[in-house]
Amino acid sequence: MAEYDYDLFVIGAGSGGVRSARLAAQLGQRVAVAEESLPGGTCVVRGCVPKKFLVYGADYGAAIKESEGYGWTVKDASFDWGKLRDNIQSEVMRLSGIYSTILEKNGAQLYRERAEIEDAHTVRLKDSDKTITAKTILIAVGGRPWMPKIKGHEHAIMSDDAFLLDKLPERVLIIGGGYIASEFAGIFAGMGVETVQAYRGGRLLNGFDAEVRDAVNDVQRNNGIDLRFNASPIEIKTAKGGYIVSFDNGTKIGTDLVFMATGRKPHTVGLGLENAGVAVDKNGAVKVDEYSKSSVDSIYAVGDVTNRVNLTPVAIREGVAFVETVFKDNPTAYDHTEIASAVFTRPPVGVVGYNEAEARKAFGDDITVYTTSFRPMKNVLAGKSQKCFMKLLTQGENEKVIGIHIVGDDSPEIIQALGICVKAGLTKADFDRTCAVHPTLAEEIVTLKPKEINKTTAVS
Ligand code: NDP
Repeated sequence: MAEYDYDLFVIGAGSGGVRSARLAAQLGQRVAVAEESLPGGTCVVRGCVPKKFLVYGADYGAAIKESEGYGWTVKDASFDWGKLRDNIQSEVMRLSGIYSTILEKNGAQLYRERAEIEDAHTVRLKDSDKTITAKTILIAVGGRPWMPKIKGHEHAIMSDDAFLLDKLPERVLIIGGGYIASEFAGIFAGMGVETVQAYRGGRLLNGFDAEVRDAVNDVQRNNGIDLRFNASPIEIKTAKGGYIVSFDNGTKIGTDLVFMATGRKPHTVGLGLENAGVAVDKNGAVKVDEYSKSSVDSIYAVGDVTNRVNLTPVAIREGVAFVETVFKDNPTAYDHTEIASAVFTRPPVGVVGYNEAEARKAFGDDITVYTTSFRPMKNVLAGKSQKCFMKLLTQGENEKVIGIHIVGDDSPEIIQALGICVKAGLTKADFDRTCAVHPTLAEEIVTLKPKEINKTTAVS
């Protein structure tokens, strides 16, 4: 008789949980997974995937307008939110089904109910009220949107709700200056909604390169988004079928929909972590070591619940490293540096490596900064003034490339390839001897010239 019911019990069938479960099951481990919602997790069900479809939807609207300069006349164009929403949900359901199938096909047992931790080797399934034991427990429950509990906060929606709106509002007020706020502002504006984005700071995308943040402010304004800075909400009141939101700077904004995009928190409340003595930080994130092991030897955690780098591909890599460590006797710590990432504003942002302020902090004046800003060819006939911004940072005499930042069409696609170059430790000379692909936006990255004064540029 085995000592435990399973070798591995995974709580949460999102990106990190499913990858870990599949790989462990493929190694012949006895694996079970519990999921209280749809398999697929935030990314597939209420995050990256449906969001990207909404971005595509908004881009089609813009393309119809811009096609005029390219000779097209499109009559009677109209937008049907319900159709796009339902088409996206169908695709979400299809993808979620694939996630369950992956688990089944690899022999992992999927429990479609909530699981909570009872002790270091035991979970309780909440609906069936069953206890299950496992040699190792993996917490992969992700995060949930969070908003400050200001007066009237119950009138606001958060990102989970945004995918399922009955109808598009005429006006939306998005509160926040981060990833979700900036992406959704671009989506709503692209669908013809009068959009205000209110942020408590002075530049969107805190933590990004200062010049990228300025470029993103321009992107939002070029999309017709009304940006309000230095404004924190203090109260939401109903008014004539809509809402009035008051801010700490005295401003009041009327709107039909209030969308709080004020961050996410690890989904650990009520998970029973205290029963097993799993330590959490002040945000409720499971504290883990470099191998994703919690303060309890038999309990690990990967993905957003650990609040390290909250991105789908990172959760997957942490899951892979966890399986290597625990089931292949090959201790593997995932390297969280030089992770390429994107923000799907319209146009989007693609970044990898250091921003300028971080590079100056780490290396002082031993860096060189290259930037360019230009109107991409496509925008000329489209009648758009939107520019593309690029920045490349190098360090040391041999000019190792340590950071690349692009705000422009297809930058997420471009940065994926450039991420390989940064990870490989290539130098500016390697970039310079690479022949350009013409005419492209990306070719500018191999023809960059240093800033005239590169020691005293912007910091965030
Ligand atoms: P972010 O942390 O990116 O942004 C939260 C925003 O809310 C910030 O502008 C923050 O201000 C503001 N804020 C926080 N608290 C308050 C408050 N009390 N009052 C007013 N404003 C407040 O969180 P998101 O929810 O947008 O995204 C969460 C994470 O999910 C991201 O960090 C990212 O890791 C991931 N994500 C990734 C995406 C991608 O890869 N494209 C897309 C979406 C999410 P301040 O900046 O001043 O702190």
